[in-house]
Amino acid sequence: MIGAGMVGVAAASFLQREGHDVFIVEPGNPGEGTSFGNAGCLNGSSVVPMSMPGTIRNVPRWLSDPMGPLVIRWAYLPALAPWLIRFIRAGTPQKVRAQAKALRSILAPSLATLAPLLKDAGAEELVKRHGHLFAYRSQENWRKEGLAWQLRRENGVVWDEFDADELRQLDPNLSREYVKGVLVRENGHTTNPNRLVNSLAEAFVRNGGRIERTRAVGFEFDGERLCGIRTENGMLPAGGAVIAAGIWSKPLAAELGDRLPLETERGYHLMVRDPEVMPRIPVADADGKFVATPMELGIRVAGTVELAGLEAPPNWERARVLLKHVKRMFPGLEESYADERVSTWMGHRPSLPDSLPAIGRSRRSPDVVYAFGHGHVGMAAAPMTGKLVAELLSGKPPSVDLAPFSPTRFG
Ligand SMILES: Cc1cc2nc3c(=O)[nH]c(=O)nc-3n(C[C@H](O)[C@H](O)[C@H](O)COP(=O)(O)OP(=O)(O)OC[C@H]3O[C@@H](n4cnc5c(N)ncnc54)[C@H](O)[C@@H]3O)c2cc1C
Repeated sequence: MIGAGMVGVAAASFLQREGHDVFIVEPGNPGEGTSFGNAGCLNGSSVVPMSMPGTIRNVPRWLSDPMGPLVIRWAYLPALAPWLIRFIRAGTPQKVRAQAKALRSILAPSLATLAPLLKDAGAEELVKRHGHLFAYRSQENWRKEGLAWQLRRENGVVWDEFDADELRQLDPNLSREYVKGVLVRENGHTTNPNRLVNSLAEAFVRNGGRIERTRAVGFEFDGERLCGIRTENGMLPAGGAVIAAGIWSKPLAAELGDRLPLETERGYHLMVRDPEVMPRIPVADADGKFVATPMELGIRVAGTVELAGLEAPPNWERARVLLKHVKRMFPGLEESYADERVSTWMGHRPSLPDSLPAIGRSRRSPDVVYAFGHGHVGMAAAPMTGKLVAELLSGKPPSVDLAPFSPTRFG
């Protein structure tokens, strides 16, 4: 297993359950990549692709508003253009229907698939199943998202709708600006994504797994059969490998002849410790495209997309502005906090242009399997991805149709 994020640790755990002798190659600590600072939502309902019909009309705005929910840094535009063109082309009505169906196949069983791993890790308290609330500031904004909700309905997602007064009963701390709420009860969240990954990793080690603290740099083959993983500390013999290194998977796949259009959708979070008010369940501001999640260590407000590549320094203003947004959502919070109560973070969503991950065998060898590119839904999609990878490497028929996730779909 290459990478100890949520995807790698889930996949390693399922492989172990299939009876394989598994080690994870990870240069850092488990769960400190993108799996560290996400919003923690484990939503079966996250079937709406990022690129939707009409997306192209938004590009000029993304280029002009550095504090908007989605921004592109001008300097990065030339490097980004090929991905962006594929992204926009992925947003036809027909394609988004197929993408939503594929996403649902790996997201709907997420919590049930994760449950045995949680139980074994003694980490059940880290995952709640209390639902997810989408809040709208106007009826017009709700209507504008008609296609998104249609995609959810077509895929079996059910929800309850609330008017302004009912919303207040649901969460009295929520701003009166919100006039419409939509509650999806099947959804869950983790109260600490980093601790979740580490609990699963510890259980994996307790069950006989190893974590090799080094970086994978390539592979050794005998014909098409894998012999081992090349690392910065030498060769580690292996008969099978899974690339689950999130955004950092791209060069490893390229070494095997698979040039996947993997791009970072950078996102930020801001956390307030001991907040004056806490949401009861995760609340998404449907207009601002951010989520406020109640977590062990405080309220976490996370979201926004910045297309600026892997190397550009973070624009911390984008994280700080989240405080303004969350204060508007929960007016009981303060305008500002002492530094020791606030923390900020930036991470890299590993995104393919059609909002679907790559799950399947490499071109070079049936022994190397890909499990990356989960974009906005990697925490939620990790359990099923892990199960599918274990099925592939154990020669079992996969539990869902893997065709939409084929790593060769981009040519
Ligand atoms: C602001 C924000 C909010 C989000 N909210 C949600 C949410 O609410 N719900 C949800 O489902 N998803 C959410 N996501 C997306 C989610 O966090 C990611 O999809 C997911 O964490 C990706 O997991 P991963 O295991 O693929 O990658 P990572 O967590 O990045 O793990 C990859 C690991 O590979 C290691 N690695 C890198 N290179 C090598 C190498 N050469 N050899 C070995 N190891 C290597 C890294 O050190 C790292 O530990 C959010 C993301 C962001 C940025």
